[in-house]
Amino acid sequence: MTAAAPPASLGASPLARWLTHPRFAGMPAQSEDLPPPLLSFEFFPPRTEALEQQLWACIRRLEPLAPRFVSVTYGAGGSTQARTHATVARIVAETTLTPAAHLTCVGASRGEVDDVARQYWDAGIRHIVALRGDVPGGGAYEPLPDGYAYAADLVAGLKRVADFEISVAAYPEVHPTAHSPLADLDHLKRKLDAGATRAITNYFFDSPTFLRFLDLALAAGITAPIVPGIMPVSNYTQIVKFSQVSGVKVPAWLGRYFDGVEEDMETRRMIAAHIAAEQVRSLPANGIDEFHFYTLNRPDLTYAIAHILGVRPTGKQDQGALPPGPPPGT
Ligand SMILES: Cc1cc2nc3c(=O)[nH]c(=O)nc-3n(C[C@H](O)[C@H](O)[C@H](O)COP(=O)(O)OP(=O)(O)OC[C@H]3O[C@@H](n4cnc5c(N)ncnc54)[C@H](O)[C@@H]3O)c2cc1C
Repeated sequence: MTAAAPPASLGASPLARWLTHPRFAGMPAQSEDLPPPLLSFEFFPPRTEALEQQLWACIRRLEPLAPRFVSVTYGAGGSTQARTHATVARIVAETTLTPAAHLTCVGASRGEVDDVARQYWDAGIRHIVALRGDVPGGGAYEPLPDGYAYAADLVAGLKRVADFEISVAAYPEVHPTAHSPLADLDHLKRKLDAGATRAITNYFFDSPTFLRFLDLALAAGITAPIVPGIMPVSNYTQIVKFSQVSGVKVPAWLGRYFDGVEEDMETRRMIAAHIAAEQVRSLPANGIDEFHFYTLNRPDLTYAIAHILGVRPTGKQDQGALPPGPPPGT
């Protein structure tokens, strides 16, 4: 809404700006009638003993929030095959959580990928996040003659191995090597038609981009749930690097928020919490009730955002014994 022109006597004063500039209604209050959203959390498999301890502190801190599943990534070209397996198997054995194992098909034959899937099934893993993956170290992707060429082929192959629940990846800002946004959506639809039940998106910072993507997906005939991937950011430099590879736009305002506080971790944490809280509040206001968090094995921001979203510990676990987890952004 823009108000009428102000009297000339006000010049360029703040009052004149108030009278002439657009006015924004505040975010609608969260409805008390709605149940809290469904959450899932993503971890990466640890490389060292210290990182293993960090991961498990993170898992224990987030476990009481009762996510519907937690997923564990698969390193580029299958480099973490054993560690991903060990992590999901330990989650099955030692927690109340339901794990989903990521699995990529780049650089492996169909038989090798099927074997990994069978090992997951035998370890009690029933949910796979099925991905094509990227060529380790970068470079153009070339399917192997005896491999699954794309994620859609992998989904179909996994369904032949066992009746897994399958999630796949989606890209609100378009996959960096897609021929076109429409072709990318068409390929997303193929993955879902091949047997996946949901898509989890790459992270994004501009919520309207995600909401537009939902419209485009619907127009392309996609009706499966598309779950927004939320990346709580406290390390701006790291996020700029990630985003260059994955084709995510880092808005200028994000850089301005972190400008000058590179050495000030405490302030960075507060800024990070503010950014993520704003992002997740705008999405439920638009009816979004499922979220996937890229935790980077650090629990605090994810825990805080989940709390803002109305998610509370279930009380199944002993709250007093929860470890605090490491500080983010270090
Ligand atoms: C939620 C999420 C989790 C991830 N987890 C991991 C992980 O654990 N490990 C990892 O290494 N990477 C992971 N990634 C990254 C992912 O592997 C890369 O983004 C990869 O480049 C694409 O994988 P995809 O499954 O989306 O591929 P696909 O769906 O196969 O698409 C890849 C590209 O090929 C195009 N395409 C698809 N089918 C065809 C076809 N038939 N003909 C021509 N072009 C086609 C698509 O438009 C797209 O540009 C993840 C990404 C997301 C969003």
